[in-house]
This record gives sequence, C-alpha cells and structure tokens, in this order.
Amino acid sequence: MINLEKYIKEIKIKNDAKDVPVFACLIKNEKIIFKAYNNSYKKWKITGHAEINVINKASQKNKSGNLSEYTLFTTLEPCLMCYGAIKQAKINNVTYLTENIKMSFRNYVNIDEIKIDIKKLDNSKTEANYIKIISDFFKKKRN
Ligand SMILES: [Zn+2]
Repeated sequence: MINLEKYIKEIKIKNDAKDVPVFACLIKNEKIIFKAYNNSYKKWKITGHAEINVINKASQKNKSGNLSEYTLFTTLEPCLMCYGAIKQAKINNVTYLTENIKMSFRNYVNIDEIKIDIKKLDNSKTEANYIKIISDFFKKKRN
C-alpha cells in the first residue's frame, strides 16, 4: 500500500478551516493517479466531497464514466452521496482510513448486499495522525 502520511500532512496545510479535512485519491498499479480534497464550503459547492471531486476529476480527464480500474482511497469513510458516486463510477474497491460514524453510507445501505469491496486501512499510526487533524479542525471551529 502507498505511503499516505505525506498526503495526510498536506490536508492540514491545504485546509482553510472551512471544510472538514478529507483527502481522497484513485490508485492504479500501486500509484496515486488522481487526488482531491473536500472543498464544499470553500467553493460553496455542497457536493464537493473529496471522493466526488476525485471521481469527477478522473472521469473528466479520462472522458469516461467507468473508473472500475481504480481503487478509491479516502481518509474518511464515504457518506451516502459519495457511495452513490462510487457506484455510478463503477468503482469496486474502496479503502478508507477512519470510520465516519455519523454520516457513513452504512447507516443507510445494507452492507451485505452491496457489491463493492470496502475495507478499512489497517494502519493505526496513520489513522491516529488523521484523527488528530480532524479533532484539531473541530476544536478550532468551535472556538
Ligand atoms: Zn461524501
């Protein structure tokens, strides 16, 4: 698996304190081909989740709606909207770093019936770093 630490550090730098820091990328042959961040509030584009942004970027570049050759990685477990986009893009493999208890697609979809292979990345150090970034973000937001 690709070393994600450097991208997780970038999330902190790029975020302007309006958007929840989320990073998503599309991986092919062990390489990150496309990457994107959450920018819903920065751009007042409410669908601007990192997963949707990276899917749009790849399909525009490839001029194709079929992204089945990629694995989608996202730092935060996808929401229902992003799950829909993942299905639309025919992506079959998804890996995430941290659970999204409140907004997870799992709260709405029967996980046993979906045909997507969704798994949590087993990297506690990277996950801990990311959770720190997220909690710092919400702490700053509350102040
Ligand atoms: Zn989403």
